[in-house]
Amino acid sequence: MIVTRFAPSPTGRLHLGHAFSAVLGRDKGDRFLLRIEDLDQGRGRPEFVDGIFEDMAWLGLDWSEPVIFQSGRTEAYRTALDHLRELGLVYACFCTRADIAQSLTAPHGDAHAAYPGTCRSLPDDPDRRATTPHSWRLRSAEAIRIGGPPSWREDGGQRFTSAIAEVDDVILARKDAPASYHLACVVDDAASGVSLVVRGADLRSSTPVQRLLQTLLGLPEPTYLHHPLVTHQGGRRLAKRDQAPTLLAMRTSGMGGKELAALLAKGQLPLGFAFSEA
Ligand code: GLU
Repeated sequence: MIVTRFAPSPTGRLHLGHAFSAVLGRDKGDRFLLRIEDLDQGRGRPEFVDGIFEDMAWLGLDWSEPVIFQSGRTEAYRTALDHLRELGLVYACFCTRADIAQSLTAPHGDAHAAYPGTCRSLPDDPDRRATTPHSWRLRSAEAIRIGGPPSWREDGGQRFTSAIAEVDDVILARKDAPASYHLACVVDDAASGVSLVVRGADLRSSTPVQRLLQTLLGLPEPTYLHHPLVTHQGGRRLAKRDQAPTLLAMRTSGMGGKELAALLAKGQLPLGFAFSEA
């Protein structure tokens, strides 16, 4: 049985790209799950959670209950982090919040600079940790030594092995966030038995580190389907501030959600939009 999921973050209204991802996930799965990635307390807003449910209903997409809210999964993330800590693969990092904020949400293809390793060799200092905001990072070089170079299989057969340089000392958690996107994603995909991860090609760069975490945590390996992204005709990316491609705007303009979902299910897009790789 193939289990898929749609895992939006409630940091804005869903747009056409999300709808394509959700429709593809629904069509590829024998069982299709919905997960709300609401760990980023700074950017997430409750009205966007409501918006996700409204938009899913408008598209006519059903999912298997229960909906997972990552904000309710702290204990599971803590257990996973402790496991990595016992393997000696975690260190405290005191670098700035601006740097850290980036890794709490999915990177979506934005070139995020590799962590320069500033805190990697610091001796553990519980006093400093007690008084200074910090995050927890993965010792990626050691992690690969233990877990081996990560590889993954794309739906349809091809296996990719990542270069070691593609795995960074990513943030795993910080004081006010029990898990980063990467850690929460692998823990939850495994807990809900996701066997096929359907998501945009902009998240392909997240797959090596997520596969490595799965190996280290003894979690099963899913298959991946990184689908082309929806852009404006001509290739311009859909931006958060764009109103036109939001499902809310499409609904307001009189478009039918079920008709849109049927179009997307055929791999087609409304006029004015096109597919591109990340
Ligand atoms: N929450 C991520 C997003 O906003 C999706 C993560 C995933 O599908 O792995 O797109």
